[in-house]
Amino acid sequence: MTLRTLDSLGSLAGKRVIVRCDLNVPVKDGVITDDGRARASVPTLNTLLEQGARVIVISHLGRPDGAPDAKYTLEPVAARLGELLGKPVAFAHDTVGDEATAAVEALGDGEIVVLENLRFNAGETSKDEAERHGFAEQLAEFGDAFVSDGFGVVHRKQASVYDLAEILPSAAGLLIETELDVLDRLTENPERPYTVVLGGSKVSDKLGVIGHLLPRVNTLLIGGGMLFTFLKAQGHEVGSSLLEEDQLDTVRGYLAKAEELGVTIVLPTDVVVASKFGADAEVEITAADSIEKTAFGASGLGLDIGPDTAAHFAEIIAASKTVFWNGPMGVFELAPFAAGTKAVAQALTEVDGLGVVGGGDSAAAVRALGFSDNQFGHISTGGGASLEFLEGKRLPGLEVLGWS
Ligand code: ADP
Ligand code: MG
Repeated sequence: MTLRTLDSLGSLAGKRVIVRCDLNVPVKDGVITDDGRARASVPTLNTLLEQGARVIVISHLGRPDGAPDAKYTLEPVAARLGELLGKPVAFAHDTVGDEATAAVEALGDGEIVVLENLRFNAGETSKDEAERHGFAEQLAEFGDAFVSDGFGVVHRKQASVYDLAEILPSAAGLLIETELDVLDRLTENPERPYTVVLGGSKVSDKLGVIGHLLPRVNTLLIGGGMLFTFLKAQGHEVGSSLLEEDQLDTVRGYLAKAEELGVTIVLPTDVVVASKFGADAEVEITAADSIEKTAFGASGLGLDIGPDTAAHFAEIIAASKTVFWNGPMGVFELAPFAAGTKAVAQALTEVDGLGVVGGGDSAAAVRALGFSDNQFGHISTGGGASLEFLEGKRLPGLEVLGWS
């Protein structure tokens, strides 16, 4: 079966359409530091508004604990959406309460409201099916139809992603369609050599995907927080760097499997080690097997790949025909640890083929480092979702829209 798209919903003029967006943008002190996900949501919203639909936008932001938490309000994001759409965007300070109900009732044709963070409600991510479904029923009251466009969450079986799509007539939005087109190109006969670059800090999440990716790629480059689990698995000490002790055996298994399959896993040969986590830390560049031999001893923290590694990675990437990159190579938010990520991003812009950046922080990183979106084949709004797709997993948020 194929994905149900917007036209399957028929005319939406005058209808109340709930749109699940992924407006999970990085926010610092109430200021949006990268609005990529908000911009990616615009085409679907514009299409619906132009048809005269009454648009109700729902999204999560961050990881609040199932209860209201001012730190994670969507209010600044609603304001930014207003700027991007060039029209007023109403905001309700609750998700399914009185204010949301009133705001939805007040909508005219071609008008739009953003409801407060879905995850202020325990039902959104509840493991209890009944609680989750109950929350979706409450949301469904607001709409005649549902458009799922939050690509970053389609791998989650959550109320606003899965259950809501079951309850209301539902279809995928334009962002999900675009993302799937690119992912198809990465999975159906990708041009070779095919290189996947992994980094970032969600180490255990990402280690899990390696086993599935190995048979599909030619080369795997490992940077970011997960590289230390690999170094440790090879018998090297890693000081106070990020480490998943309980994954050491798994990682050893991957190294053996790669050899068996003839896939190259490239690990860093040098690392940037810091005296502490901060932009004003003392820094030493050292061989990857000598992390504890710096002046900082066992308290040293590996916060970026070293310059030799960055150059080597860049060479491999630029010579590939297909590249998927998820996860920054280092703590790019701090200038002394941004060079590895910058080198990888630069090389990706030079790929003669398809170069894809996936992941919220990775996308934010390339923009923060001065690259523009059109320098890359595609910047995906979903890291985890893209990875699970590439692994060949079934994604509940897509299956419920007819995709298989
Ligand atoms: P994405 O959102 O692109 O999928 P993640 O969320 O997994 O990526 O990770 C992003 C974070 O990883 C960044 O905030 C970055 O600072 C952090 N990071 C990268 N390398 C390291 C490292 N060596 N130690 C600690 N954190 C790291
Ligand atoms: Mg992230």
